[in-house]
Amino acid sequence: MIVGIDAGGTLIKVAYTEKGKVHFEKYPIAEMEQVADWVNGLGDCQVCVTGGKSGVLVSLLNQSVQEMVEFEATHLGVQVLLKEMNLLEDAYLVTNVGTGTSIHCIQDNVQERLGGTGVGGGTLIGLSHLLTGVTRYDEIVELASRGSRDRIDLKVKHIYEGKEPPISGELTASNFGQDLFSISSDLTKEELLATVIGLVGETVSTVSVQAARQCRSSTIVYIGSSFIDNPLLKEVVKSYTILRGSVPVFPDNGEFSGAMGAMSVL
Ligand code: ADP
Repeated sequence: MIVGIDAGGTLIKVAYTEKGKVHFEKYPIAEMEQVADWVNGLGDCQVCVTGGKSGVLVSLLNQSVQEMVEFEATHLGVQVLLKEMNLLEDAYLVTNVGTGTSIHCIQDNVQERLGGTGVGGGTLIGLSHLLTGVTRYDEIVELASRGSRDRIDLKVKHIYEGKEPPISGELTASNFGQDLFSISSDLTKEELLATVIGLVGETVSTVSVQAARQCRSSTIVYIGSSFIDNPLLKEVVKSYTILRGSVPVFPDNGEFSGAMGAMSVL
């Protein structure tokens, strides 16, 4: 068996090939020891690990394993996933919305990190919890999908009252920017959570579109576990990216890019 593991800040992603078939699993970072026990019990296998927490994982493993830098692993994994979807181009951007967000330009097989933002999946969970007390990721995204941002976000058209704005009036002028003091106790969890997802989605797509100017392509491949079962985040990112003139792509199993890339070098 060959196994690729991406141990990130929040989740451990595992890709493994058994009898020619690729399998994917993910675990909370708190279950690192169980993942190590699973690998240690496999017997005859080849393993490559990547990600910020890979050092901790390696210290729990009984066998020697290959290690690789996560940006390289992610790049290789994205290539594999895009190829499978017949979407591979010579140049594209990759925005990885993990615990934080990292943006890369891939040109002629070479990846360069262009930057990122601390606003990412960790912000989604952390801010959501602080505002509503909800702790579970699946509950956060489910409640958010039923919420409206109308009473919380300030749009450009709200500022340009009775006047034609110089940019689209539908753009967000200020996330959480409406006059909230008088309605703060009246806002629902659904509204607050939808607005948190709006903030994260608009930030990562805005930064990505700006980074695209430093890359030959305007195709932006969005990956990372923050998109798992999260159609609202996908929709915010998709519409904002298109509005700003770029082309969004969400590959299937994008959250396993790092693990796939690690597996692909074995
Ligand atoms: P990292 O590699 O930094 O762990 P990921 O790409 O795995 O990053 O993304 C982590 C983010 O995915 C979390 O911050 C959260 O927003 C989201 N997420 C998706 N599923 C879960 C889950 N079951 N538990 C916690 N966070 C989840």
